[in-house]
Amino acid sequence: MSDTHDILKSVFGYDVFLGRQEEVVTHTLRGGDSLVLMPTGGGKSVCYQIPAMLRPGTAVVVSPLIALMRDQVQGLLQMNVTAACLNSSLPPQEASEVVRELMAGRLDLLYVAPERLCSPGFLDMLTKIPIALFAIDEAHCVSQWGHDFRPEYTQLGILADRFPGVPRMALTATADGPTRKDILENLRLSQATIFATGFDRPNIRYHVVTKDNPHKQLLSFIKTHHSGDAGIVYRMSRKKVEQTAAWLTQQGIEAFPYHAGLDSGVRSANQERFMREEGVVMVATVAFGMGVDKPNVRFVAHLDPPKSLEAYHQETGRAGRDGLPADAWMTYGLGDIGMLRMLIGADGGGLKNRVDQHKLNSMLAFCETPRCRRQVILEYFGETGHKPCGNCDTCLTPPITFDATEVAQKALSNIFRTGQLFGAGHLADVLTGKMTDKVIKFGHDSLSTFGIGTEFKQRGWMSVYRQLAAAGLVHVDVEGHGSLKLVEASWAVLKNGREVELRMDPLKAKGKKKTPKTPTDMDPLQGEGLGLFEILREKRLELSKKASVPPYAVFPDRTLLEMVRYRPQDTDGFSLLSGVGEAKLARYAEAFLAVLAVHERSHGRPQDLEEPPEERRAQKHQRAERIRTGDIPATIIES
Ligand code: ADP
Ligand code: ZN
Repeated sequence: MSDTHDILKSVFGYDVFLGRQEEVVTHTLRGGDSLVLMPTGGGKSVCYQIPAMLRPGTAVVVSPLIALMRDQVQGLLQMNVTAACLNSSLPPQEASEVVRELMAGRLDLLYVAPERLCSPGFLDMLTKIPIALFAIDEAHCVSQWGHDFRPEYTQLGILADRFPGVPRMALTATADGPTRKDILENLRLSQATIFATGFDRPNIRYHVVTKDNPHKQLLSFIKTHHSGDAGIVYRMSRKKVEQTAAWLTQQGIEAFPYHAGLDSGVRSANQERFMREEGVVMVATVAFGMGVDKPNVRFVAHLDPPKSLEAYHQETGRAGRDGLPADAWMTYGLGDIGMLRMLIGADGGGLKNRVDQHKLNSMLAFCETPRCRRQVILEYFGETGHKPCGNCDTCLTPPITFDATEVAQKALSNIFRTGQLFGAGHLADVLTGKMTDKVIKFGHDSLSTFGIGTEFKQRGWMSVYRQLAAAGLVHVDVEGHGSLKLVEASWAVLKNGREVELRMDPLKAKGKKKTPKTPTDMDPLQGEGLGLFEILREKRLELSKKASVPPYAVFPDRTLLEMVRYRPQDTDGFSLLSGVGEAKLARYAEAFLAVLAVHERSHGRPQDLEEPPEERRAQKHQRAERIRTGDIPATIIES
């Protein structure tokens, strides 16, 4: 057992490093620079927090958001790690207190905003004290390619000159090729080792449903699968955010709006409630998200699809950071395709526009794919060779595809015959031979396409038109009230018989399907266990309020789940739970053990309880032995 493992257990309460954490830690301890690319929830913070404690001096962490800094610092303080932050929200007196602590060498970690760090006076000050490392969090903010561009980040390259020999680490969850290149160049990390773990988020289950009545669909999704859970609902515009938040509230769900048009006080109050309380739903534009590191967001719902798979992956990635099962759910329809194409087309020509088109096409192809959705996402990020995941809607209910060349020809020719002036609803009426007022008014019953579409009902043809639009075979004219128009590619289908393959939209699910096991080592709780979990959650909320920290800074959900699973009866048993380090054992074991004891007195102790993994106890003994022989001090971190 090494010092790094010892800290992982004694401070963080974890048994093993995740993914490439250990490699990054070792590399940094040896003084190397690194670029760490890990998906959200991959455990990036540990990569710099452990070297921060083991290397002499203070680790300086650059972070773009005040709320994020504050939460990280609170989490660390809960574990008795000395950390502080410096940003514009701090009153001058507190700020100078932080600086005093820093200069006295009493801080393991200092979180700071980029503009503060790069101010000449501050850099000079830092040269006077030992610096353990620089960690640049959310490093993609340095790139103009992404939507989180922060000009201040581009100045951080200066650290290479001013602090040669101090290891620097850039961390991000989003980095396609160009962004990665920007990070390495602008931050002057040419010598950095790149540590990338895959983009897969196996605990997130992807679903895409055809838009019908999005509010009702959303409500039914929440009520069926996520009642009482925290979630984020993304909408494209401020107005829609307001509408959806108001509607959910009317339906008795605790929902708040968040967008850039809200007064900043309201915005941060809403965010605060989302972070600090259990079961709040945030309805938001893309303005909400970066730095939201609440680990137990159980679902992310898109009522409007985003413009790219990067955005989709990043936004859905905010679900399930704790590794427990979570849902990414989206409704999507023909109108969205037209809207998105219009938004992107508006920029006019050029390389950026072509890149945007490509990104949108990939997003739409994802929505329409008959294949495993996870495979489609991962292939987009360059990861091939993954097997179908078994944890997305298309894996769970494989859609049927069919050769739709003739069907597409009928649909396209119908657009042409009606003069390219009508939306999908009317076009479907014509194909199915419905005598509506509109059909009569325009004399469309005399067209050669009237009533030739007997193979589908109205809904089926709507789906055909949507899929043709997604594939770029028809254009949706948003300014022309959603009328469909032919494009060059349409003629390849009409005249040259270019083959088209489409999928049948799944019908509304009949009866209950058995949900297969999700890839997680935690079974969902039921009955008495679920009741106990709720009681423990309440205890956690109470303790977190007392300590003025978010609930997850007390313990993550996983720790509560393990309490239910293993039912520890004393501090020895409690110390074996995941997420219980020394500081939190001292702080919270007693309170939770008391709750468990009360529960056990009234409900009894369940039969056939599981035991924590054997290695945990073995590790504990090893550690005790090392302390006894004086190999490590009893407490590495002073409190
Ligand atoms: P990221 O910044 O990459 O999104 P975090 O650093 O916030 O991820 O970590 C995500 C979650 O995983 C947190 O709840 C954290 O406590 C937990 N975690 C990190 N490292 C480990 C580990 N080695 N074992 C168990 N849980 C871990
Ligand atoms: Zn799948």
